[in-house]
Amino acid sequence: MHPQLAADLAALPDLLETTRQHAAAFLDGLDQAPVVPARPAPEPAPLPEHASGLRDALGDFTARWEPGLSASAGPRYLGFVTGGATPAALAGDWLTAAADQNSMSSLDATGQHLERETVGWLRALFGLSDAHHGALVSGATQSNTVGLAIAREWLGERRGVSPAEDGVAALGPVRVLSGAAHSSIAKGLSVLGLGRAALVTVPTLPDREAVDPAALERALQEADGPCVIVANAGTVNTVDFDDLRALAELRDRYGCWLHLDAAFGAFAALSPRHAHLADGLDLADSLCIDLHKWLNVPYDSAVQFTRRPDLQARVFQNAAAYLGPLGDTPDLVHLTPENSRRLRALPAWFTLRAYGREGHREIVERCVEGARTLGATVAALDGLRLLSPVHLNVVCFTLATRPTADRLAALADALATEVFLTPTVHAGLPALRAAFSNWRTAPEDVRRVGAALAAAVRQLPLD
Ligand SMILES: *Cc1c(COP(=O)(O)O)cnc(C)c1O
Repeated sequence: MHPQLAADLAALPDLLETTRQHAAAFLDGLDQAPVVPARPAPEPAPLPEHASGLRDALGDFTARWEPGLSASAGPRYLGFVTGGATPAALAGDWLTAAADQNSMSSLDATGQHLERETVGWLRALFGLSDAHHGALVSGATQSNTVGLAIAREWLGERRGVSPAEDGVAALGPVRVLSGAAHSSIAKGLSVLGLGRAALVTVPTLPDREAVDPAALERALQEADGPCVIVANAGTVNTVDFDDLRALAELRDRYGCWLHLDAAFGAFAALSPRHAHLADGLDLADSLCIDLHKWLNVPYDSAVQFTRRPDLQARVFQNAAAYLGPLGDTPDLVHLTPENSRRLRALPAWFTLRAYGREGHREIVERCVEGARTLGATVAALDGLRLLSPVHLNVVCFTLATRPTADRLAALADALATEVFLTPTVHAGLPALRAAFSNWRTAPEDVRRVGAALAAAVRQLPLD
């Protein structure tokens, strides 16, 4: 063994303790740190030729890279839909790396069993029936892509071909209908060879991002043959929800596949006050839920559920001499794009084990409360205009006068040390979004964000 590796091995408990203290100090500083520091990236350094050990690497990281890291784990990073990591989720993630399991088959199965237990807990959390089988993937984009891959195989089944075996050309043209599909749906269609052009945008209800079921029915009549419907539970601008029961009825009447993107909207199901929004999650044929957003596990983690694991295994099976037959409960290696991956379920297992349904419900309800309070602040500010009622955890707003993308970018820039917001376009207007999904966000943070917004709007030049 190289002497430096031997020295680090001998000092491992000490080195881990140093790293732990470092991580604790970083997390402790999140409240004071600039949310997104304005710093140029360090010059790339050459590959180290010689071994200098973990302590030296930690010193270099701390000096060169850490100062530029955002406080995305903290309470006022409201860009995208981000989430943080609960204490238990973080501990679970550390142990994932420490144990370094690649548990995708019954040849070494404990991790795979732990993932199945976790999927069972997630099913119960979201009120899904046992008919839904699940697996963990790296994020909602991958979850949507896997769901669409299963849908593609289902279309093949209806047309008497197998795209997994014969290639996607055997399938013929495909229509994927959606009201306000997330950008990751088009990406998934591109990856799967179905093509971005397969996505047909169906009109939404007036002043809404939810699909108009009557318009969807007309599109299904015109389509003449089985389609894929992509339903949305929680759109990113206004957190609008499609009428899932109406869409499931259309699915039954017209013989379609119903994929549901509920990346963060599914979490409405945790709160009796908001559960009606996500009513009907269980009716989907495939379902995408992100875990690194509102479950507050570290990146990267999402779950994908489906009622047709047999079709899923047809797409993702990895036939190899050393892996067993598929059987009724296929090994994970046959269900997801990866053949090898970390024990991704462990952080989710830890946070669910530590805080349960009750703890995660409290996070959801506090985030919604924060969004409502900020929504009221924005509505009351002269220079700003709320673009939608706050349906759940996102506040979508713009400038009351001259709402150009440049002026909004200047506003976001002026705010960045105190709060991070991301740009969007809603109903043709450039806008900003504040999305609440971090477990640490407290009423005091919401007050700070409101005060920072008021000050920044006042100081914004008129042109
Ligand atoms: C975030 C999000 C996605 C993509 O999620 P990633 O985890 O970034 O891959 C897809 N759909 C919706 C509705 C989302 O909010």
